[in-house]
Amino acid sequence: MAGGHTAPSRVSDAARRAGLVLAVLRRLRRRDSWSRAQLIAHQGRALAVLRAHAYAHSPFYRRLHAGRFDTPLSDLPVLTKAQLMEGFDEAVTDRAVRLDAVERHLDVLRGDELFRGRYRVCATAGTTGRRGILLWDRSEWVDVLASYNRAQEWGGARAGLTRRMSTAVVSSTNPTHQSARVGASIDSAWLPTVRIDSGDDRASIVLRLNGRQPRTLVAYASMLRVLAEEQLAGRLAIAPEFVFSASEVLTRSTRDAATAAWGRQPRDVYAATETAAIAAECGQHPGLHLFEDLVLTEVVDGNDRPVPPGEYGAKVLVTVLFSRTLPLIRYEMTDSVQIAVEHDCPCGRPYALLAGVQGRLQEALQFATAGGGERTVQPVVVHHIMDRVTSAGWQVVQRPEGLEVLLVRPRNVDPTALAAKVRSALAEQGVVVPDVRVREVESVPRTALGKAPLITGTTS
Ligand SMILES: [Zn+2]
Repeated sequence: MAGGHTAPSRVSDAARRAGLVLAVLRRLRRRDSWSRAQLIAHQGRALAVLRAHAYAHSPFYRRLHAGRFDTPLSDLPVLTKAQLMEGFDEAVTDRAVRLDAVERHLDVLRGDELFRGRYRVCATAGTTGRRGILLWDRSEWVDVLASYNRAQEWGGARAGLTRRMSTAVVSSTNPTHQSARVGASIDSAWLPTVRIDSGDDRASIVLRLNGRQPRTLVAYASMLRVLAEEQLAGRLAIAPEFVFSASEVLTRSTRDAATAAWGRQPRDVYAATETAAIAAECGQHPGLHLFEDLVLTEVVDGNDRPVPPGEYGAKVLVTVLFSRTLPLIRYEMTDSVQIAVEHDCPCGRPYALLAGVQGRLQEALQFATAGGGERTVQPVVVHHIMDRVTSAGWQVVQRPEGLEVLLVRPRNVDPTALAAKVRSALAEQGVVVPDVRVREVESVPRTALGKAPLITGTTS
């Protein structure tokens, strides 16, 4: 960068970043009119550049892919979070980066500070196992921001240097979480953003939103449900032009509640810390278009075999085409998604459609079968029942003694009938039916990062 020896002010730094994001967005917009063949050619080129970079600068990838530098992607080994974190120091392409120093940086992170003056660091929000730690340099971070902005643009919320979009994000304000970091690094005159923690007291969230009157509302799906109920009850009185759901499964009933509250359908965004935004809805709502120009997504079963369109997989393997500091190639995420059989959408975009996202594998429940085996019941079985229940929120908790269905302020719900419905759905799945209890609660337990998983194991 030409010019001064003094550190740039925060304002000019944010403005420069906004300019860079807009430049990337202009490039991304042109891809919307690509043919499928152009998209596939781009993927091939981008993957070759990523692999060459990883092999040149990452001893970990040189070892992991040894003897397969020229093989197709599908012949490369799958990379788990545990493997990546164990090999972190050699996986990163900057030899000066050490995991212990990165973790010390995260421990004291308060805002948008950079590690070694160059990198933004975030941790994954997982509730089980070791947390994943990811980092991006300034240029990669522009790609991260652009992916989220693209999701908003497809939802009609197009920002520009001359068009201010006041935005409220009700998610996590934990600075180690990517959604907080994205908010912190785009909060500018260009995109004035208020960030509210979804774990805060509900009345205080409502008060701040009423004061702010955001034009764009972004919230975790569970929080969107709560806010829609508050709006319909007359306590919340905002009129957002754009409503986005992120990070959790957006169920039919939450979609309907939000539509009733604000007179417009919420737009679903599928994102993960590792990949940034991966898929979003266009204005036609046929599903979510995958950002196939930024991330390669393979839907696979529990044994890493490809799962055809029209069926739910057990996992997705992601290859993040713009990752350079910590390359991600066939990285395993335990999300269960389904690719649509048909790609054609009236909007004309060349990207494949996700027909369904049913959440994290941790949300699948394991039950014993009569034959002494174990069977997985997919979250969608529970969603189908709970979608017809009127309440301000719900959570199904699996405990050794049975299932507990937690309901927040249920309306006209017969607990006995609901428990019977859950039991009969489980019986249809061929598992030993557990005891099912329905209990009314004030609120559903959230994780440390403010998410409220719909289906969860015993909280420890
Ligand atoms: Zn479309």
